[in-house]
Amino acid sequence: MKLLIATHNKGKIKELNALLAAEGIDVIGLDEAGVTFDVEETGTTFEANARLKAVQYAQATGLTTLADDSGLQIDALNGEPGVYTARYGGAELTQTERMALVLDKLDGLEGAQRSARFRCAIVLANGEGEVVSVKEGVCEGEIAQTIAGAGGFGYDPIFYLPEHGITFAQMDKLPKNQISHRGQAVRAILPEIISSLRQ
Ligand code: IMP
Repeated sequence: MKLLIATHNKGKIKELNALLAAEGIDVIGLDEAGVTFDVEETGTTFEANARLKAVQYAQATGLTTLADDSGLQIDALNGEPGVYTARYGGAELTQTERMALVLDKLDGLEGAQRSARFRCAIVLANGEGEVVSVKEGVCEGEIAQTIAGAGGFGYDPIFYLPEHGITFAQMDKLPKNQISHRGQAVRAILPEIISSLRQ
């Protein structure tokens, strides 16, 4: 059973492979599928962007396709960076500079005033490019006071989980998968991936 994951990000493919290999699902990314164009993420919500990617890549390849779109919502910043998470502060910033920008904006705030969440929308399209299922995962936390930890990617070093006392970047992959927005969304959509691929 072959599933196209609508991403060039090797880390994401690996993370999804860890969740789906046990189900006998062969996961491939856009590069392996020979896709050379990028879908423009013009939506104003995570779901809209995930739909754009799932439908267009499925139409281009004829493969059952899983697309996700996720990002960080910080309450004190009225939900920013939201759909702009990947390029927050400008495309030219490094990820460390992007995290520093977030920390600067939250200067003077403490604990629950720094509440934030990662949200992930995930969309499954069949080989004809029809949306079969849409699910969402949410992981609540806080923006840490400083950058901490070397694992993970993106904003992991500043995403603090009060119940665990560590950031996502200090957490092993397996427990992160268990609580992460993406892990939750993938588990929610898993039965539909399996039934769609078996048809
Ligand atoms: P994407 O839609 O999954 O590519 O996510 C958009 C952006 O959100 C990424 O470029 C990351 O900066 C950030 N992001 C999404 N998920 C995570 C995560 O699990 N940890 C850290 N950052 C993330």
